[in-house]
Amino acid sequence: MKRIGVLTSGGDAPGMNAAIRAVVRKAIYHDIEVIGVVGGYAGLISGNFKKLEVGSVGDIIHRGGTFLFSARCEEFKTKEGQQKGIEQLKKHNIDGLVVIGGDGSYMGAKALTEQGYPCVGVPGTIDNDIPGTEFTIGFDTALNTVIDAIDKIRDTATSHERTFIIEVMGRNAGDIALWAGLAGGAETILIPEEIYNLEEIITRLKKGSERGKKHSIIVVAEGVNSGVEIGRQIEENTDFDTRVSVLGHMQRGGSPTAADRVLASRLGAYAVELLVEGKGGRAVGIEKNNLVDYDIIEALGRKHTIDNNLYQLSKELSI
Ligand code: ADP
Repeated sequence: MKRIGVLTSGGDAPGMNAAIRAVVRKAIYHDIEVIGVVGGYAGLISGNFKKLEVGSVGDIIHRGGTFLFSARCEEFKTKEGQQKGIEQLKKHNIDGLVVIGGDGSYMGAKALTEQGYPCVGVPGTIDNDIPGTEFTIGFDTALNTVIDAIDKIRDTATSHERTFIIEVMGRNAGDIALWAGLAGGAETILIPEEIYNLEEIITRLKKGSERGKKHSIIVVAEGVNSGVEIGRQIEENTDFDTRVSVLGHMQRGGSPTAADRVLASRLGAYAVELLVEGKGGRAVGIEKNNLVDYDIIEALGRKHTIDNNLYQLSKELSI
């Protein structure tokens, strides 16, 4: 390996910059040149490349977003698009590619791998829904953003004796709702992996109210239902006064937490190590605080699942 490429793709996540920095610095440490692909797979197809030096990644470890920009690119889902990408990589003598992104971006890396081009996937998404890793880059920062919001909402909820429904991100995975709900002391957590029961929610609300609870916080992942709809269902069937907060894109922003910066640094550097060893077609991750890597095709064949022990605990603690 003499020259590698790095790109960020799909939904951005805090810590992507720290990951790019780690890729660049680790590669230069090994005397490998690094080319940054600007704008994800769209930039790969159009050849929007720039050489990254040690200084190019200075002063970005603490910044949210991605300085290489991200994009969604339908063309890359086609064989022709992927071939164009590979041609650009070959034309610029790039021997391997690090893809930092979510599950969609991994599909792109998988497609390149299937066509014989060495890629390593680094899990960068706030959703924590990539198979082959316990944590993804950006998840911890998003959780901290959500609990900050929950703490603030809790203050106002107590003052007015209201039931607050807080809608968080997570179309298919309930990790943000579960972890932030547990950390924020929510009474009810609704995740897409579990079918929710309105009667059960109402019983909980009533029980809490009977023992003098001044407020109730329900955290709902967007993939379950809209917070507004859940609020409407509760108001139609009870006397509880509900308010809904949809946290939206603020969950994607902000300066990455220490945990995300460390994770991004470790995973980014590890991706380069694998390429240096001539190992392409891998997906890197963290398990029991150890770096791991899996065949990217095999990893994508698996399904991310929720931590059931944590879900059970959240129920036990919010009685
Ligand atoms: P994320 O990586 O955050 O999940 P997306 O699902 O939007 O975000 O995927 C990001 C990009 O990855 C897409 O715009 C597309 O360019 C590429 N991609 C997604 N799915 C595939 C696929 N099946 N084959 C090839 N490329 C894909």
